[in-house]
Amino acid sequence: MIQLKKFVFNAFQVNTYILFDETKECIIIDAACSSAEEEGALLHFIETQQLVPVLMLNTHFHIDHILGNAFVSEQFNLQLAAHPGGEMYLDAALLSAKTYGLRLEKIIQPRLSLKDGQILSVGKSTLKVLFTPGHASGSICLYCEEASFVISGDVLFYQSIGRTDLPGGDYDLLKKSIWSKLFALPDDTVVFPGHGPETSIGSEKVNNPFIAIG
Ligand SMILES: [Zn+2]
Ligand SMILES: [Zn+2]
Repeated sequence: MIQLKKFVFNAFQVNTYILFDETKECIIIDAACSSAEEEGALLHFIETQQLVPVLMLNTHFHIDHILGNAFVSEQFNLQLAAHPGGEMYLDAALLSAKTYGLRLEKIIQPRLSLKDGQILSVGKSTLKVLFTPGHASGSICLYCEEASFVISGDVLFYQSIGRTDLPGGDYDLLKKSIWSKLFALPDDTVVFPGHGPETSIGSEKVNNPFIAIG
C-alpha cells in the first residue's frame, strides 16, 4: 500500500510529499526544500527508509514549489515531470526568487510531460493525473484511488482555494477545475494540499466558504 510522508519547507510553508510503497520506490512531489537543514531532512528520510527515488514532479511551477528541484534532481539523478502548460513560470523564476529573497540558483526544466488522465506508477501503486488549471497555468492534482487521497497542489486547501490574482490565475476556471475534477472524487477522499493541513473532499463540499456546493 502506498504511503505518504509530508514535509513543510521554506518561508512559504510548502508541503513537500514523498509517496512510496513496499517496493521502496518513491516519487517526490513539489521539492520545496531551500536550506541545508531542509535538504538534510529530506535526505535523511529517504536514506533511513531506504527509498529509491524514481521521479520528481511539480503540481505547478510557482516559485515556492520549485526551490528544491535542483538539489533533488542532482542528488538522485531524477527527471522532472510536470504539465507543459506552466513552463512560462520557469522563465520568470530567477527574477521571482530575487524579488522574494529566496535561494534559487538553477532552474530544472521538465523532461516528462504530464497530461490529464495519465497514470503514473510508484512501485506497485498508481496515481492519476488530473489537469486542474485556474490557480496557475499547467496546474495538476494527483489522485490515488486505492488509498483514497488526492494531492491537490494549490488548487484546493482546507476551507480555502488557491489565489487567482497571479499570472495565469482565473477564478471561474479554478472553480470549474474543483467542481469537475476534485468534487467528482468520493467524499471520503483525503485531500493533501500544497499548503496547510489535510482535509477531505466531502468536508470541503460542505464547509469551503469559497466553493461549497450547498
Ligand atoms: Zn501556487
Ligand atoms: Zn504554493
